[in-house]
Amino acid sequence: MDSRRRRHAEGAPLIMRYIYGPVQSRRLGLSLGISLTPWKICNFDCVYCQLGPTRQTISERKAYVPVEDIVSELKSWLAYNAEESTKLNFITLSGMGEPTLNTGIGELIKEIRKLSPAKVAVITNASKLSEPSVRQALVNADLIVPSLDTVDEEIFRKIDRPDGSIHIEGIINGLIALRREFHGAIWLEVMLVKGINDSREHIRKLKEKIQLINPDKIQLNSPVRTTAEIGVEALDKEKLEDIRKTLGDKCEVY
Ligand code: SF4
Repeated sequence: MDSRRRRHAEGAPLIMRYIYGPVQSRRLGLSLGISLTPWKICNFDCVYCQLGPTRQTISERKAYVPVEDIVSELKSWLAYNAEESTKLNFITLSGMGEPTLNTGIGELIKEIRKLSPAKVAVITNASKLSEPSVRQALVNADLIVPSLDTVDEEIFRKIDRPDGSIHIEGIINGLIALRREFHGAIWLEVMLVKGINDSREHIRKLKEKIQLINPDKIQLNSPVRTTAEIGVEALDKEKLEDIRKTLGDKCEVY
């Protein structure tokens, strides 16, 4: 037995390129993550991003990572972690960049369905939901967690710093269309940053658009962990609670 096979037999962890976790998360339970892009392939450069700055925003959709490679890695993980795999609540497509930029996302969701009874979640910045083919690709997921930090173009450019080709109106329309076409759950995530998108006036406008989108849940968050940007501050608990009440029953702070 060579040393590599011996390490495997002794229970050393497999080396994974696309799969991470599983992690126990408050909102998803036990969730195994899959990254569909290399590091920081994203069409946003959010001020609160925990992955650091986006060197160059990229909006092109392509096969950044081959689906066959991800599926093969997932099969290995499931075989090697047979007991733990039965406890997974979700397999979550998210990771090191924006997952919908990978053109293989729809095929990957179908393959995951064949391999595991866990539910499939997609965490997305919502930038590509204006494209019918992207919404169609996500149709077999159980849960989509899209972001909507603002409904104002100027604030959008300050907080999410998108690629020049992306506009907030397109994202809002994409979310409304997603609600019409998608039969799974939609949990809309709103990241609130002090002094940027937390004014009463902005929250009132945000509420109007969220009513049109009609998600199953609205989840408020504020950047509590370290970000690469200076001056990105979280809201205090009272302010978050105040906004939660304004946005109504479906809204929770997590
Ligand atoms: S969309 Fe996500 S990955 Fe992209 S910059 Fe924003 S937080 Fe980071």
